Amino acid sequence: MQIGIEVLACVVLFVYCSFFEWFVHRHVMHVKRFPLHDAFRGHVIVHHQLYHGENFLVKTPGRAPSVTLRWYAFPGMIAIHLPFFGLFQWMTGLPIFWGAMLGCILYFSGYEYTHYLMHVPRGHFVERFRWFQFLREHHRLHHKYMLRNMNVFIPLADLCYGTLVTSEGWRSKPQKRRRFLERRRNATPSS
Ligand SMILES: [Zn+2]
Ligand SMILES: [Zn+2]
Repeated sequence: MQIGIEVLACVVLFVYCSFFEWFVHRHVMHVKRFPLHDAFRGHVIVHHQLYHGENFLVKTPGRAPSVTLRWYAFPGMIAIHLPFFGLFQWMTGLPIFWGAMLGCILYFSGYEYTHYLMHVPRGHFVERFRWFQFLREHHRLHHKYMLRNMNVFIPLADLCYGTLVTSEGWRSKPQKRRRFLERRRNATPSS
């Protein structure tokens, strides 16, 4: 029973982290706001500029600069959640603390690992998977259309908030518009 609750807490927090990631990326990393303007500078000014367009993929060997977040970013994000996990456990008596923390750690580790490989291919096993290739394309579009595809790891919040775009979606847009205009022209009675 106890382990079941911890596992459930882990899953719930993993899902929650998709929304948290979306919120931080959209409202902290893409907005210049005191006192978190360093996150904006590091992300929009440095990361987006360095890995824009043709430079999305790093082909040179060695460690690529400014791909991973600052060393304190994820420990800090986990730390701000811990009092809430503790409070929830204390108020309800449900043993969720470690499961919830593990859910956050798994999500943030997945973010850092996959984001690094998206920009810096290393021939790791996960790079063969279709879901990884989908995520890489999803993130490439974020570097092109900055306020779309705000999730890097699990694009669930993008789906819910309507910020998800796929390359197919962008390609089909001009065709859709042409078809719409044609239909409207045909529907208009000629005078
Ligand atoms: Zn990136
Ligand atoms: Zn961004």
